[in-house]
Amino acid sequence: MWAPWRMEYILGPKDKSRCIFCAYGGDAPEHFRENLVTFANEHAYVVLNRYPFAAGHVMVVPRAHVSEPWGLASDAHDALFRLVSEVAVRLKAAVNAGGVNVGINVGEAAGAGIAEHLHVHIVPRWPSDTNFMPVIADVRVMPQMLDSTWKHVSAALADLPGEHPTV
Ligand SMILES: [Zn+2]
Repeated sequence: MWAPWRMEYILGPKDKSRCIFCAYGGDAPEHFRENLVTFANEHAYVVLNRYPFAAGHVMVVPRAHVSEPWGLASDAHDALFRLVSEVAVRLKAAVNAGGVNVGINVGEAAGAGIAEHLHVHIVPRWPSDTNFMPVIADVRVMPQMLDSTWKHVSAALADLPGEHPTV
C-alpha cells in the first residue's frame, strides 16, 4: 500500500530552536503566501506541504502545540476535524480528484516529520496516480508550481469563515 505520510518531507532541515507550525499559526494574513498558508480560523489553519506527494497536498494544523489529537481541548479537537472535512471536500472538487487520503502520523515511530506539533495530511488522489507520481517527483520543489497551487487552493477555501490571504 502506498501511504503518502509514511515518509514526511515537510520543511527540509529542521530548526530545533522553534516550532515552525506554531510560527505559521501566528502569521498575519499578509504573510500567508510566503509560508503557503491558505486559510486560518480560531483553532486551526491550512498550509501546503512544500514537498508534496501530489499536487494539492495540504496539511490542516491546530494552533495549539500538541503532539496528539487527544491532547487537544474538546472545542479545538472538534474544530480541527471539522476543518479537515471542509477542506477535503473543497480540495477534492478544486483539483478534480477522484478521492483523498486523510492521515495523521502520531509520533516519530509512526513517521511524523515534526512529531511535536500535530498535523493532518490531506492528499488528493486520481485514478491515474501510478502514472502521475513520477511527474510530481520532478516538480515537487518548483516554487512557481507551489505558488500557483497555493492560489488555487486559497480560492477553493474562500467561502470558509476565518482569515484569508490578503495578497
Ligand atoms: Zn508548535
